Amino acid sequence: MDCRKAETMITPYIQHEISDEEMEEFLDHIRTCPSCRRELELNSYIVEGLRMLESGSDNFDVRGAMQREIRASYQHLRAVRARRILHYSINTLLFLSTVAAFLLELRILYWR
Ligand SMILES: [Zn+2]
Repeated sequence: MDCRKAETMITPYIQHEISDEEMEEFLDHIRTCPSCRRELELNSYIVEGLRMLESGSDNFDVRGAMQREIRASYQHLRAVRARRILHYSINTLLFLSTVAAFLLELRILYWR
C-alpha cells in the first residue's frame, strides 16, 4: 500500500469502516511509514478530543487512545485468523467423518 492509499483510509479506519483485508494492509503501512503514522495520530487526536467533549471527560490520553486502537485492531485480525483456522478445521473434520461414514457404508454392503 502506498501513502496516497493509506491517507484515504485513515478516516474509514478510525470509524471502523474498512474490511479486515484493508485493515491489515493499512496497519502494515502505518507500522513502517512514520509520516502516515503521524497523520493517523493527528486524526486520532481530533476524534478523541471530540469524544471527550461529548462525554465531558477530562482524561485526555490521545496517544494512548491510538495505541489502544491499533492494539485492538491487531487483536481483531488475530481473532479473524483464528476463526478462519477453526472454520477450516471443522470443514476438514466434517469431510473426514463423511469419508469414514462412506467407508463404513461400503463395508456393510460388501459384508452381505
Ligand atoms: Zn505512508
